[in-house]
Amino acid sequence: MELNLVMLGPPGAGKGTQARQLRRTWNIPHISTGAMLRDAVQAGTPLGREVAAIMESGGLIDDEVITRVVTERLAQPDTGGGFLLDGYPRTIPQAQSLDRIVAARSPLVIIDIVLTEAEVIRRLASRMVCAECGTNATGEGEVCHDCGGPLVPRADDREQVVLNRLKVYREQTEPLVRYYGERSTYCRIDGARLPDDVTADIIREVESATRDGREGDSRPGSGIRDPKSS
Ligand code: AMP
Repeated sequence: MELNLVMLGPPGAGKGTQARQLRRTWNIPHISTGAMLRDAVQAGTPLGREVAAIMESGGLIDDEVITRVVTERLAQPDTGGGFLLDGYPRTIPQAQSLDRIVAARSPLVIIDIVLTEAEVIRRLASRMVCAECGTNATGEGEVCHDCGGPLVPRADDREQVVLNRLKVYREQTEPLVRYYGERSTYCRIDGARLPDDVTADIIREVESATRDGREGDSRPGSGIRDPKSS
């Protein structure tokens, strides 16, 4: 069965960390638009040059530009069994584009990881990522547990940038909770717990939301979670 997952949640909610676990659980590719853009910046491609300054400031890059990137990525054959989108959509127009892109595929399953702003700021202030492969550091140590590369703070985790990213999230991305919230495949997850507990919760919720043919039901009013209390 095709499993088409979308991860929602503020920066620092653990989307990347969870996605890396879940891609192994379900054997589907983890598609992180942030990672794709950081690769493009690092490689100095035309796309990278176009988006570098916007990313540095914590703003969002143009809907059409990022949608083109995602459309091309979702056309790759490795997404045949599904995909795990991390960082897209981030605006209502992006969500509408995604609905069009996947119109002929299994319905999207939405994983919304919920975290307070205070906790987001606390987490991002101490986040380290691998300078080589971009993996988030988990636990102690000075090198990446995946590739042995050096750990550094992420360029856009500086306090002023974090505050801007949170503002952008509140204004542009949080409305997606209402956009998706009434679908039966919307899963609301408490992100303020240990990563393994969050993973177990996600697996349980996604399996429950896709069982018994409920995955086809996206009518308003068929929701199984309350998005308004976010
Ligand atoms: P992330 O790693 O998901 O936090 O993304 C890092 C940065 O990449 C964001 O702050 C944006 O500047 C840019 N970005 C990633 N995904 C998108 C998107 N779907 N729409 C617009 N900008 C994006």
